[in-house]
Amino acid sequence: MPVDKESRIALWIGALREWAPTVRPRLAEWWEIVRENPVLIWQTPAVRYSVYGVGLIVVLLVLQWSASLLLPPQMVGGEPARTAQFHVLCSNPACGHHFVIERKFKFKDFPVRCPKCGKETGYHAVRVNSGPDRGKWIIQR
Ligand SMILES: [Zn+2]
Repeated sequence: MPVDKESRIALWIGALREWAPTVRPRLAEWWEIVRENPVLIWQTPAVRYSVYGVGLIVVLLVLQWSASLLLPPQMVGGEPARTAQFHVLCSNPACGHHFVIERKFKFKDFPVRCPKCGKETGYHAVRVNSGPDRGKWIIQR
């Protein structure tokens, strides 16, 4: 029997109309079976894959949240620096140790204790940038 396009659509609609009323009783039947044996919920593919999908979304959200905890918050411009590094030269003739300290900006409380000889003989040093001593560190007076 030749079936043209319109009658095929009609067949589909007919099949759907036949199938639709069976959904509710079949769901009710499934629910009755599941109530008797709850393990069967997990054996229903629609339920199982829905749980997998929701679980995957939850896992992704948790990963995103934990990543945001691990990474530092993005700061525009960043916190301004409150300290600076100062080069210090020991004025003890027997020592002459050169070291770096970190203090507040405009720190002027020199001399500081030298870590090598232990004396309060550390003075702020600057680098000579011209002349024969160019590149050497000298005490700024
Ligand atoms: Zn020293």
